[in-house]
Amino acid sequence: MRELTYVARHTVEWREAPDPKLRSDQEAIVAPVATTSCDVDSAILAGHGFLDPPFALGHECVARVVETGDAVTTVAPGDLVVVPWSVNCGSCEHCRAGLTAHCTAVPHMAMYGAPIGGNWGGLFSDLVRVPWADAMLVTLPGDLDPVAMASASDNWSLSWRLVAPHLKQRPGARVLVVARGSIGLYVCDIARALGASEVLYVDPDPAHRELARGFGAATAEALEPVRHGFDIAVEATGRVEQLTLAAKSLAPEGICESAGNHFRPGELPLLDMYLTGVTLRIARDNVRGHIPDALELARSGKVDPRRVVSHVFDWEQLPDALPEKHLKPVFVREGA
Ligand SMILES: [Zn+2]
Ligand SMILES: [Zn+2]
Repeated sequence: MRELTYVARHTVEWREAPDPKLRSDQEAIVAPVATTSCDVDSAILAGHGFLDPPFALGHECVARVVETGDAVTTVAPGDLVVVPWSVNCGSCEHCRAGLTAHCTAVPHMAMYGAPIGGNWGGLFSDLVRVPWADAMLVTLPGDLDPVAMASASDNWSLSWRLVAPHLKQRPGARVLVVARGSIGLYVCDIARALGASEVLYVDPDPAHRELARGFGAATAEALEPVRHGFDIAVEATGRVEQLTLAAKSLAPEGICESAGNHFRPGELPLLDMYLTGVTLRIARDNVRGHIPDALELARSGKVDPRRVVSHVFDWEQLPDALPEKHLKPVFVREGA
């Protein structure tokens, strides 16, 4: 089989690898059918990551189950499933507590698409091994479009988690979104659908701002901090000055969620945050637990993640099209 491999800045290529085989009766082999790039993949492709190439890329996809071990009960060959970005066992203490990004049965940071906690391959590969199929895979409801939901592995479900629980606690909250990619736009869509009274989206990219306005958000290219302006702020840029803007714009006891990969160190306005009373969460997402909730919201028809998909390409176009700058390209494998 082929693995789409990140080999150098802005360069990916197919490389041959052995077909994955089941190694236990709890495993599955899946074939990605609609795969997309996570916002962090653009940073990796631009050379901003901290991992040296080569490695197999990709950690967001809907896949078709090809083969399952005898102990697998929740999915069967032929099913369409969401494959979560992080590898987790479902039964260790952390997994049982919902902390699936911190599974203790695998090395720290075990994930697809980046060889940090071992090498699990990438989801831009012809075939993928899923070590705990029942614990990891989520069946895609039949009424959902795999292209629209390719991001449920990570960015879409993460975006649900960044605002949905907070809006439940604070109905009608005012939401600030400071972002650069798909996450911020999904957050605008979800926040509006779940009753935010106001959503302001800040991003220098005019095409992104237009999409945000389509989701009912007000937009700005840049912004000075708005003192006590927002109950919830979401930062997804990986830039500390943008996180500062978000933190400084919060109402008393406001919540700041940071989903950016901050590859560079920086300083936060801690005294300002202390005086306001800011809850800052900066975390990798324990995505597996809320993929079903995020899919359920997509089924409600109140949101439209398909609008964030900027391009639909054929699977064979991956080496050429992935390094190009696209908001949310989805690569589709017909007949898989
Ligand atoms: Zn990701
Ligand atoms: Zn575990």
